[in-house]
Amino acid sequence: MENRTSLLLKVSIGFFLGILFGFIIAPILNDSYILTDYIMPFVDLIGKIFLTLLTMLTVPLVVSLIISGVASIGNVKTLGRIGVKTLPLFLITTEIAIMFGLIFGNLFQPGSKIDIPINTQTTINPPQSISDFILDIFPNNPIASMANNNMLQIIIFALFVGIACTLIGNFGKRVARFFEDFAKVTYSLTYMVMSFAPYGVFALISVTAARYGLTILRPFAKVIAAVYVGSFIHVIVIYSLLIIFFCKRSPKWFFKRIQGAAITAFVTRSSAATLPITIANVRDKLGVSEKISSFVLPLGATLNMDGTALYQTVCVLFIARAFNVPLTLTMQLELFVFATVASIGTAGITGAGLIMLSVVLTGVGLPIEGVALVAGIDVILGSARTCVNVIGDAAVCAVVASSERETLTV
Ligand code: ASP
Repeated sequence: MENRTSLLLKVSIGFFLGILFGFIIAPILNDSYILTDYIMPFVDLIGKIFLTLLTMLTVPLVVSLIISGVASIGNVKTLGRIGVKTLPLFLITTEIAIMFGLIFGNLFQPGSKIDIPINTQTTINPPQSISDFILDIFPNNPIASMANNNMLQIIIFALFVGIACTLIGNFGKRVARFFEDFAKVTYSLTYMVMSFAPYGVFALISVTAARYGLTILRPFAKVIAAVYVGSFIHVIVIYSLLIIFFCKRSPKWFFKRIQGAAITAFVTRSSAATLPITIANVRDKLGVSEKISSFVLPLGATLNMDGTALYQTVCVLFIARAFNVPLTLTMQLELFVFATVASIGTAGITGAGLIMLSVVLTGVGLPIEGVALVAGIDVILGSARTCVNVIGDAAVCAVVASSERETLTV
């Protein structure tokens, strides 16, 4: 515990030093070739290695955890019960996030009187239809799903294998035991990668801060404020209430223990890449069992995107104003449907929410070129929304564990 606490401290220090370096020191030394030709490429490399290592862990961890977790649950009924608790919680928190998006989007009025350069480099692919999305959940080749990091297909395959293990007695037990052991090995790998986190976090945040600087933020101040303030209120109010009422713990207990995952989400901007750290925090620090965390967290990293839903709602209001299209109350209410569908369909990878914004824009009848308006600041908005997404997954996981009468840490 002591070691882990000092690791968290180091990660936090890495984060703040990275901000300091990127925003203040890098611009001062901008003319020096040592910085631009040697230091920044090296720092960038460190960040990319950290991100790659985290991504490397995701598939083996999810496969082994879900198979052994489902097999340890023992029967399909219990699994169904956990699912029945998890999915509505995901949905309810997403709807509340959209509500906060509407409130803060209307309050800050981003997009009025703006003069924003449109980033024409953004390529916008047509959104997937709902039936294609459903069909795409099922893997026709699980190995290809793993090779492509297709998380939803991997989860479905692992769920099937886990259930099959419970149906065939000893044969199944042997396979489940193998995956249980394999999960322990991937945990051990996770801790190795986590020890690299302070440097990785420093590198990722300092490169982002140096690349974008503070000047880019100015014309977008209102939309950034609406997303950040809305996200902050959602996290502080909603997740605290969940933790107080269902887990009978203080918000401080919760936020302190998932801080490592939150910072990692902020700098990687990917729920999937953060997943190994989220699982480690929720299991080791909140005390949630493997059986519940291994099921709820991968599902959350794929489907539960409160931050993305809030961001998409604010962006729609912003784009409507920027294009001078009045958004009627009905159109704003329609956002509950479109932002929910789009956030569920958003993959847990960097920048995916921006692409799925086109689904929401099409839904409410706005030009999808609006995506280009916010593309330039996606790094800044992506950090906030991914951080909320990951904290939301951990909160729901803790609630489900409490409802299953698990004893959380004190
Ligand atoms: N990157 C986000 C995540 O992984 C999704 C998004 O871009 O909205 O949670």
